[in-house]
Amino acid sequence: MNLHPVSTFKAPKGTYDLIPPDSAAFLAVREAISAPLRRSGYGYIETPGFENVELFSRGVGESTDIVTKEMYTLTTKGGDELALRPEGTASVLRAALEANLHRGGLPVKLWYSGSYYRYERPQKGRYRHFSQVGAEALGAEDPALDAELIILAHDAYRSLGLRNFRILLNSLGDKECRPAYRAALQDFLRGLDLDDETRRRIDINPLRVLDDKRDAVQQQLVGAPMLRDHLCEACKEYHERVRELLTAAGVAFEDDEKLVRGLDYYTRTTFEFVHDGLGSQSAVGGGGRYDGLSEMIGGPELPSVGWALGVDRTVLALRAEGVELELPAATEVFAVPLGEEARRALFTVVTELRRAGVAADFAYGGKGLKNAMKSANRSGARYAVVAGERDLAEGVVQLKDLESGEQAPVAFDTVVSELLAKRG
Ligand code: ATP
Ligand code: MG
Repeated sequence: MNLHPVSTFKAPKGTYDLIPPDSAAFLAVREAISAPLRRSGYGYIETPGFENVELFSRGVGESTDIVTKEMYTLTTKGGDELALRPEGTASVLRAALEANLHRGGLPVKLWYSGSYYRYERPQKGRYRHFSQVGAEALGAEDPALDAELIILAHDAYRSLGLRNFRILLNSLGDKECRPAYRAALQDFLRGLDLDDETRRRIDINPLRVLDDKRDAVQQQLVGAPMLRDHLCEACKEYHERVRELLTAAGVAFEDDEKLVRGLDYYTRTTFEFVHDGLGSQSAVGGGGRYDGLSEMIGGPELPSVGWALGVDRTVLALRAEGVELELPAATEVFAVPLGEEARRALFTVVTELRRAGVAADFAYGGKGLKNAMKSANRSGARYAVVAGERDLAEGVVQLKDLESGEQAPVAFDTVVSELLAKRG
């Protein structure tokens, strides 16, 4: 078929394709982030890529940028109002409640991995389609659970070889102590010189103002009341336990009293992982406790904690640090047949190798020796199995070590076991 497109298709703005060989690093990051979770009692959960829009307006918050500006919403042909998921927590909680998981043993520990969508201004590290791996522990209030999640994320980054990340930690208080603090903060903020949008935030989401990235705002925030000075005894105690457990696990963190999430159902522990090699898109992950969220979406009281780590930014962080991941060879053995009979014979060898767990590939398309050897080298395989009519007549194949260049005949019947042995 010979198509002459008028214009070539491009990936939509703010998106990019994951293609080999770079895509291998993404898979490895997802694997490395989820491995510590899978070893810690977290079960895998997968929810739809879209939900009723109301789940997010309630479960992420009407006053957040995510809901007001960044959500992809759509009306179906049947009239349903849906949104592409901008984050994972609300969906996971919805699914757990729907399946009554919370009526079994608590906490319910779940992990997920998938695509998320936000209509943002695209830039490096900020895309309209991106990947997260996340974890949620539902239905228990226990500082050890908060600490566990932070330790698992820390260990995941470490296992990838990342060094230059920092953990920022704060407590947001709870329904006992936050209301009074919120009122004190609102009083303070109302006395400042702020634009209209920020003024509106004072009413609906004042803690978020603390998080404003603009210098002109930050300068005015000097002297703002800080939650740290308003925490009730129970919150102070809880936070101290989390800090002790992290310290005992050898996980370094920085207290950041301006780190906020800013919605009423976020409580106590809040944290962010930042990487210093990423410029302004420095957050590689974040999370915290959300004791009131279940009730916000119509469920029972279910104190919970979770995090989501950005896969795209983690890959960028690895590049920024120059970390080379040790990826398993995509192809270990490459078969190069010369002639029809050899094609049939080596194809069975390749199938056998694959069934024995060896990554093997084949020179398809009837290539000549030179081109086929080029493909073998390009594949990254350590060994090539080469055979022509004369080899087969003698009952052998040529086994070539592509690293050393050495080549030797091997009996056709033993080549698979020989390769398995070489691999150890
Ligand atoms: P930011 O402050 O950078 O906008 P956020 O607070 O919106 O981040 P979260 O909602 O906490 O981010 O999501 C968790 C992680 O997901 C982030 O730390 C980041 O690594 C990643 N992430 C969020 N939005 C994007 C995006 N648009 N493109 C790529 N990764 C993203
Ligand atoms: Mg954001």
